[in-house]
Amino acid sequence: MEASKKEPLVITDKEQMRKWSRAMRSQGKSISLVPTMGYLHQGHISLVREALKLTNLTVVSIYVNPGQFAPSEDLSTYPSDFHGDISKLMSVPGGVDVVFHPPNLYDYENDMKRNKNDQGVCKNLEGKGEVVSCLEESGMGHETWVRVEKLENGLCGKSRPVFFRGVATVVTKLFNIVEPDVAVFGKKDYQQWRIIQRMVRDLDFSIRIIGAEILRDNDGLAMSSRNVHLSAEERGKALSISRSLLGVKSAAENGHINCRELRDSVIQAVSEAGGRIDYAEIVDQESLQAVEEINSPCGVLHCCLVWEGQADR
Ligand code: AMP
Repeated sequence: MEASKKEPLVITDKEQMRKWSRAMRSQGKSISLVPTMGYLHQGHISLVREALKLTNLTVVSIYVNPGQFAPSEDLSTYPSDFHGDISKLMSVPGGVDVVFHPPNLYDYENDMKRNKNDQGVCKNLEGKGEVVSCLEESGMGHETWVRVEKLENGLCGKSRPVFFRGVATVVTKLFNIVEPDVAVFGKKDYQQWRIIQRMVRDLDFSIRIIGAEILRDNDGLAMSSRNVHLSAEERGKALSISRSLLGVKSAAENGHINCRELRDSVIQAVSEAGGRIDYAEIVDQESLQAVEEINSPCGVLHCCLVWEGQADR
């Protein structure tokens, strides 16, 4: 017989979210947070499963953060399916406790109303505040950004110079609202995971950051919400990424240590498949600085690559 499915409590208001967390913590319960932008797939679900092992309670946030999209990027076409997301979360054994789904984390109108109202009564946010894009500092006077100055510069940060500023800022906001003990991020977004780890260390957040392994489809493509935009042909081309990265891994294991040669082999394979490369680099797994030779065989280095275009990183 199928176990009864747990329906998560959906919270849209940040003050209610904070109240829930504080009430749970005062009962001695520990809380995990899995931040997402929704349109969930099994990659996200693997993070939820990881979170379920670590704490008493699990919160999944679903929020497409405008602060990390440049005006030219795909904010308006980012896929969403809130009801589908809830049923996917309900299908996870154990289920999640809360889905935090705020309409606009850069709308401070209710905060101002709350400040005027000692009883702390708050209405649901209606998302009327202006959108804050990562390049246009508009919105309701939002002007505070978190930057992890060195780690944010290379790799994805080269062509998206303020992307990680948006990510670090929204994750800080989520940490301050949800007040979790643990937060789980995917290594698919490797630079993001390292940046959040560094931010938490440097700013003394009392939160344990977990990096979860990449989940791939059977054909080897890393699962991603944006894969929905790929045509069958584009998907076939995108597979040259995982294939060539696997090729680099086995070449390195067989003693090929020259990073320029290894990197060039990836660029060639992806270009031949018709892909457009933003970057291909072999970097130290912590500093994310490019290295010339692979001197440690056991995964001390990280290889990263971007497929640029409609599809995904
Ligand atoms: P997103 O909704 O794309 O912002 O992703 C939310 C979280 O899920 C991030 O920490 C991602 O790294 C993680 N994630 C997304 N896709 C995968 C995947 N295929 N495997 C593991 N983690 C993933």
